[in-house]
Amino acid sequence: MVSNKEINNSAAELDGMLKRMHEMVLQHVKEGQDLHAVVDYKTPAELYKTVDFALPERGTGVDGTFDLIKDTLNYSVNSWNPRFMDKLYAGTNPIGVISEFLLGVLNGNCHVYHVSPVLTLMEVEVTKAVGQLLGMGQHANGLFCPGGSASNLLAMVTARNKLYPSIKTTGYIPRPFNPSADYGKLKVFTSAHCHYSIDKAALVLGLGTDSIVKVPTDEKCKMRVDALERLIQESIERGETPFFINATAGTTVMGAFDPIQSISAVAKKYNCWLHVDGSWGGSAIFSQTVREQLGWLDGSNLADSFTMNPHKLLGVPLQCSMVVTPHEMLFPKVNTLAADYLFHGNPYDLGAGTIGCGRRPDALKIFLAWKFYGRDGLGQRIDRAIQAAADFTDLVREREHFELVTDPSLFCQVCFWYVPKEFQSQVQSWRAQQPEVWKAKMTRVIHLLHERVNHSGDFLVDHAPLDTLPHFFRIVINAPTVNVHRDLAALLDAIEDASKKIAWNQVSL
Ligand SMILES: *Cc1c(COP(=O)(O)O)cnc(C)c1O
Repeated sequence: MVSNKEINNSAAELDGMLKRMHEMVLQHVKEGQDLHAVVDYKTPAELYKTVDFALPERGTGVDGTFDLIKDTLNYSVNSWNPRFMDKLYAGTNPIGVISEFLLGVLNGNCHVYHVSPVLTLMEVEVTKAVGQLLGMGQHANGLFCPGGSASNLLAMVTARNKLYPSIKTTGYIPRPFNPSADYGKLKVFTSAHCHYSIDKAALVLGLGTDSIVKVPTDEKCKMRVDALERLIQESIERGETPFFINATAGTTVMGAFDPIQSISAVAKKYNCWLHVDGSWGGSAIFSQTVREQLGWLDGSNLADSFTMNPHKLLGVPLQCSMVVTPHEMLFPKVNTLAADYLFHGNPYDLGAGTIGCGRRPDALKIFLAWKFYGRDGLGQRIDRAIQAAADFTDLVREREHFELVTDPSLFCQVCFWYVPKEFQSQVQSWRAQQPEVWKAKMTRVIHLLHERVNHSGDFLVDHAPLDTLPHFFRIVINAPTVNVHRDLAALLDAIEDASKKIAWNQVSL
């Protein structure tokens, strides 16, 4: 029998654990800011030997569990280190940790108001405030989803339910198979550089990935609006029904912003839903410079739905993603099912508008970050990242053997190749005369260098493909603590050093 005393001593037990955790966590954060290794890299086989992954029959209590916590800290990526530049998210910050901690203590669920009253109103207010920042007006509202892909999926299913509600009950049977349907094969239009979650959403909806039309991009990697309109017209001529246009605000690889304003005119003309995937660049709306001078997000007020991931550019802990809309009560109106045992008609029961049930109250994390830093503070974080990316671009341009993929860089990613001097004389002729050879050989060069740089543990960076180009380094400038000379110049040195250690003449590319 478990005694009452044991049941009720959670506070004391937590007190002891928090004290141990406190010290370990601070050490981890200090190591990150002092540029200790980003990661003590191990292969899965090595890691199985190092960390105890066996799940026990009998509990190991505080000591056993804390040994595992220690190992988890030791062998994980230390994202507090600004040299973690591999993905679009960076490390979080103190208020980010506190917000996750608060969520853990509350263990709340934002499906219905009466189990999470404060957290629900935070979600209502922060989605409204973001919608208003995007110019969506007084009815702006939205929902949090478990990531940008989930937000994009919710946007697409919402658009389909709103435009073709019969599909909710009869399923998707387009013309010509169903001559009385009010729609032909449904088509989605998005740029060739969009995130794959748009394809996934079409797959989940049962439209199939063939229903996605990839619109070509211009030399700045933005969707070509003339091509969009032509492709929509051709689709209509085939008897299909274009219904969803996705504009990307900040593409995943290059950071391009599609021209939302002119895309919206096309969407209106052809009765399409306009979604903006701002998972990466949407948060830039917090910057006054972006709002008032750069204008990258102009036209956001005209979108029917807009995805934003504070967990990327704003340093809020994963996950924190929302989809906002100017249409009042959009999500519950078009998505709800009569689940009377859960939803009793309260408009604050946010879960009714989703395709899920229980929901993590992720809104609290951006709410607290906003309260702590203010809109200005969050905006300055963006401005700083944009400036650092521009400064780093200058460094790359000036170094011998480095070549930028676009000059200037489009946003917070800096993309470039490194051409070892052994290939310097051939690379231009490969590029001009044998693009396939150029692509294959340079891709191999980048992969070899990338592997060495990442395994050193000093940096974590990524490489990316694009169209017909060879793969290139994609360095993401996001952490507010990244320093152009200390960290970014050092990265270029590390790439040069890695190249010197490779006997290129003996490598078969
Ligand atoms: C990161 C990203 C996504 C996906 O977001 P997750 O939160 O990782 O699901 C979608 N679209 C774009 C443009 C992105 O950069």
